[in-house]
Amino acid sequence: MTDPGWQDYALETQAIRAGQQRSHEDEHSLPLFMTSSYVFESAEQAALRFTGKQPGNIYSRFTNPTVRVFQERLALMERGERCLAFSSGMAAIMAVGMALLKAGDHVVCSRGVFGNTVLTFQNYFGKFGVTTDFVALTDLVAWEAAIKPNTRFLFLETPSNPLIEIADIRALADMAHRHGCLLIVDNCFCTPVLQQPLALGADLVIHSATKFIDGHGRCVGGAVVGSEALIEKDIYPYLRTGGACMSPFNAWVFISGLETLALRMKAHCDNAFELARWLVEQPGVAKVHYPGLPTHAQHKLARRQQSHFGAVVSVELTGGQAHAWRLIDSTRLLSITANLGDVKTTITHPATTTHGRLTAEARSDAGISDGLVRISVGLEHLADIKADLLNGL
Ligand SMILES: *Cc1c(COP(=O)(O)O)cnc(C)c1O
Repeated sequence: MTDPGWQDYALETQAIRAGQQRSHEDEHSLPLFMTSSYVFESAEQAALRFTGKQPGNIYSRFTNPTVRVFQERLALMERGERCLAFSSGMAAIMAVGMALLKAGDHVVCSRGVFGNTVLTFQNYFGKFGVTTDFVALTDLVAWEAAIKPNTRFLFLETPSNPLIEIADIRALADMAHRHGCLLIVDNCFCTPVLQQPLALGADLVIHSATKFIDGHGRCVGGAVVGSEALIEKDIYPYLRTGGACMSPFNAWVFISGLETLALRMKAHCDNAFELARWLVEQPGVAKVHYPGLPTHAQHKLARRQQSHFGAVVSVELTGGQAHAWRLIDSTRLLSITANLGDVKTTITHPATTTHGRLTAEARSDAGISDGLVRISVGLEHLADIKADLLNGL
């Protein structure tokens, strides 16, 4: 549980101060505890720790002081009661499935989710008798129609990737609860700085800390945030046994990421907003997908649900794949990579990379055209990002 005193502070303050307990060395910055196990004062103390009768460190698969600070800060920032850190975003999603699902259960998932999330539900949970139906993120009628008596949870990402559609978290949380299931939101694109799904009724939040939380493309990690009851009863026992824990070193890097997250997200969003408005006016641009534009189908919802419109912009070019590749290949500054959430601007062609394993029909159903280019807008000067894109436009 987080120390209740920190709940009264603003997110920016929590991100910098919460959770740190100074050691006998009186250090100012956060120490990195690289230790796999801990020493007990006596056999009796070891026994008390293992049975949970005495709180304290046991083994770093499930208790590490550096990882604990990361967990406490992210829990506070997400307005959750408790957070558990995992070795990657995918490990966090796997943990939620392993902890909550059993043979015969059913999941409803939005269609635009991260490719490996689709594969996790279809190929791995499918193997053990869990079925998953995929629905359009913004179609509330389709969500409700897909729910069955054995549906355990609804799972979604908002904004979606790469079309940046926005789901109504409050409406879907209410729907899930009416049908006796949970709502799980992957909050990787927004981070708690832009939206806090738990405050809107979601039951669990998933993070890939690899993206904006690190923010500099260094470490891979993930997290699950939710109520004390759900985490303690279902997710924690799985982490302790399943073992996909976050390394203390990565936690230490992610903590410094959290400290500047609010500043960085605002700057990312400002750059993305200006870039989206500029792209609309460029030659060869058929459409710009960005919720900050009044033409975006969920512009009003995005305004209500998020504090800023996000750092990812997708642009559809008139000349199909050849045009998209020409734009990508003519950049000098931008990084051609499928990763996102970095201070460096990244550019990618979803149809032949992140969504290349889908059939052409599935891609077209999902609205991902061959002329679509996704840009995760970084913190370089906007004039330089524009100039770089202008080469290929
Ligand atoms: C990257 C990503 C993941 C997976 O996270 P890893 O840390 O790479 O395992 C999950 N969801 C979303 C939305 C992502 O972008």
